[in-house]
Amino acid sequence: MANPSYILRGALVIDPSNGVHEVRDIAVCHGRIVPVSAAHGAAVVELPGLVLTPGLIDLHTHLREPGQSDKETIASGTRAAAAGGYTTVVAMPNTQPPIDTCERLAEVLERVRRNAVVRVLQTAALSRDRKGRELTDARALAGAGAGALTDDGSCIQDESLMRRALEQARAAGLPVIDHCEDETLAASGVMHPGVVARELGLAGKSAASEEVVVARNGRLALETGWPVHMQHLSSAGSVNEVRQALSRGAPVSAEVTPHNLALTEEACRTCGTNAKMNPPLRTEADRQALIAGLQDGTIGVIATDHAPHTQAEKARDFATAPFGVIGLESAVPVCLTLLYHSGILGLSQLVSKLTLGPKQVLGLSQGSLECGAPADITILDMNREFVLDASQFRSLARNCPFHGWNCRGKAVATMVAGEWVFSELPHVTGRV
Ligand SMILES: [Zn+2]
Repeated sequence: MANPSYILRGALVIDPSNGVHEVRDIAVCHGRIVPVSAAHGAAVVELPGLVLTPGLIDLHTHLREPGQSDKETIASGTRAAAAGGYTTVVAMPNTQPPIDTCERLAEVLERVRRNAVVRVLQTAALSRDRKGRELTDARALAGAGAGALTDDGSCIQDESLMRRALEQARAAGLPVIDHCEDETLAASGVMHPGVVARELGLAGKSAASEEVVVARNGRLALETGWPVHMQHLSSAGSVNEVRQALSRGAPVSAEVTPHNLALTEEACRTCGTNAKMNPPLRTEADRQALIAGLQDGTIGVIATDHAPHTQAEKARDFATAPFGVIGLESAVPVCLTLLYHSGILGLSQLVSKLTLGPKQVLGLSQGSLECGAPADITILDMNREFVLDASQFRSLARNCPFHGWNCRGKAVATMVAGEWVFSELPHVTGRV
């Protein structure tokens, strides 16, 4: 039965986009949120003691299709998303080949239509082949369904080319999201250049390599009047650059990953290559600055940078293994444990970083529970205590630095367009 109607009863509803924080009923009909009075004959689902939020949105996901289906596929990655509480993922274009033409975009969107179990917003590259030399056709890509433009994994180095990229994106009405990295400063660094890198004998990638591009993007956003979203901030200096750009009125936004919020360079000793990512884990002072940036609103988004790799690739030595860790199935437990239960963020504040924040960056209709919005919903059990076990993940990959963590709180059911796609609740049947 497609899209039956439901009344979801008795949960604590947290909807930051509408300032809702109370126990109330939510009704769903034909894939949309409707007034309870309009849900005639609806099945009642009792959810006492649970939290109901707009479906979570991950602004930064690598689904690896086309070209790297040994790492992840659209099917496996979106099943992981559903199991992690996410109803929309924003897919990065650094596939093989990269999504830099309308033809390639159409092909990946067809794969999404056939295989995805949650919504996928597909981004396209800012520059041809993500080389930072020649811009893609922003207007054509917008017409073909691109959700945003980014060269993630790379970064346009030439400031005048980046300015033109923003002007073209503005003309096309497409959001720009940027992996901020100066290649000259980053050199061949593989981790934060601190005590641990010296002890392990590994090359460092300085915080300045990120900060100079965050500063440049703030300047360009102000000059062009077109927003730039800064991906995965890793340093205190970057948080300061975003804060200063905002204070000057620049239309910028920023995200931080759960791993940069939870871990420091010390994890490179204990987690090995599962602590190798770009940007790297940095110092405790950087971690605290990222948390402060979340608290004061400088950083509006928590995004996973879900970056699956095969176990063989991550079994290489630290210097040669690929960058990145998975996050779709660990983000909610880690954030609830680390940020909510410790009192760092209130519940509405945390849910906002996973719903309203991403919604605002990309101008999405989802991320809200107002009547008429898509019925994308996440149910959280705030007090479920469990040990994170990466061997049980839906993702094809296992490169998770949080394997074995004691967590409190997780997503227990996920609805996309009025259909349960994931459920651990005894009285609700999900698909994955
Ligand atoms: Zn990146």
